[in-house]
Amino acid sequence: MASGNAIRGSRVGAGPMGEAERGEAAPRLRISFWCANKHETQPSFATDAQVPETWDCPRCGLPAGQDADNPPDAPRTEPYKTHLAYVRERRSDADGEAILAEALAKLRGEI
Ligand SMILES: [Zn+2]
Repeated sequence: MASGNAIRGSRVGAGPMGEAERGEAAPRLRISFWCANKHETQPSFATDAQVPETWDCPRCGLPAGQDADNPPDAPRTEPYKTHLAYVRERRSDADGEAILAEALAKLRGEI
């Protein structure tokens, strides 16, 4: 057969096995995650989904990672932070003071 005939009938976008047209249910991957308490969980993901680096352990709620020997650290237990505390972490003290002053001014009806 002449080589030129081999490509006849192929369509742009379809692979030689027709994989671009595959219509069956998407295959799923089961990925194991381990938390710091050695709990293993195996959520499944579509093969074209982005697998997260960590997964919340359904048993204890700690973050679980894909490396059984090196699970993510448990989140630090910190006292509840107010919104203003978060704002102050992201901004300089001067900005925080300005925001606070503006908020107080609004409260007083000065703006
Ligand atoms: Zn756990």
